[in-house]
Amino acid sequence: MSESVAILGLGTMGSGMAANLLKAGIPLAVYNRTPAKAQALVSTGARFAATPAEAAKSASIIICMLADDTASRAVWTGKDGALSMVRPGTVLIESSTASPAWIAELAGLAAQHGAELLDAPVTGSRVQAASGQLTFLVGGSEAALQAVIPVLKRMSKEIVHLGPTGSGAKMKLINNFLCGVQVASLAEGLAWIERSGLDPRQALSILSAGAPASPLLVAISERMMNHNYAVNFLLKLMAKDMRYAETEAANCDVKLTTAEISLALFQRAIADGYGDQDMASVIEPIRANK
Ligand code: NAP
Repeated sequence: MSESVAILGLGTMGSGMAANLLKAGIPLAVYNRTPAKAQALVSTGARFAATPAEAAKSASIIICMLADDTASRAVWTGKDGALSMVRPGTVLIESSTASPAWIAELAGLAAQHGAELLDAPVTGSRVQAASGQLTFLVGGSEAALQAVIPVLKRMSKEIVHLGPTGSGAKMKLINNFLCGVQVASLAEGLAWIERSGLDPRQALSILSAGAPASPLLVAISERMMNHNYAVNFLLKLMAKDMRYAETEAANCDVKLTTAEISLALFQRAIADGYGDQDMASVIEPIRANK
């Protein structure tokens, strides 16, 4: 494969995605704000870039996998930002979970450089990023998507084209709104189980086999039970997604009351110091009855 790719952002998700591109033999430049996180990838063949612009300069496909709108704006448009090096025909892929408003603005900036933007946030978490089993939720033109499919395939089990620019971002926020509400209500349910006198294992096996079951309930309840908060998905990122979801739904005249209540639980956990732990730790302040 001759495409040269840049990945900007080597956190939990970006590092796994980059590793899969390297494994496939794709020429890859990597940038991360904290350079030390690039070391493992550089030692397996990636080109280290000290700035986003340096990563972007020889890439025909540039993928961003960053925390939020603020990070994305900084890396695309800040000092030595990637956009400064974008050439006509380059495809920009924003895989961060970002707001549709920022995606629309970024698409406009890309067009000024003669480039197209795909919003392509992902479902799946740390494990799926590492094993190349993500699902990409894509918004943008069919032509731009076709040009990058061979690269996206190396990181995913499924690529879904949802419509024009912004469609992927919208779908992702709806997805994470439902995940966030479920995690928050599970935290309350499990804290209740633990105080109820029921056997938590038996109670969870009933829930996991019954109508409330979901892959998320099964995975997160296990982590909550075991107080295992090794990071799959940072709690502060779920709070961000719930905020973006509230704004985006409000733009469609829908008030997300359940997001508001769930977000309050995530914010309480952040105030208690759990923002940089896995989102399963949202249960801790509830357990402590704060
Ligand atoms: P992460 O591990 O926290 O990584 C965040 C990345 O953003 C790091 O590279 C970080 O750089 C960078 N960053 C943060 N603020 C920045 C700034 N102001 N300027 C430049 N770079 C900045 O997050 P992640 O779990 O990989 O998630 C990445 C994106 O995917 C997020 O939008 C998240 O919502 C979404 N997502 C995550 C999961 C999951 O399960 N983890 C699943 C689906 C989607 P440093 O290393 O320097 O901090």
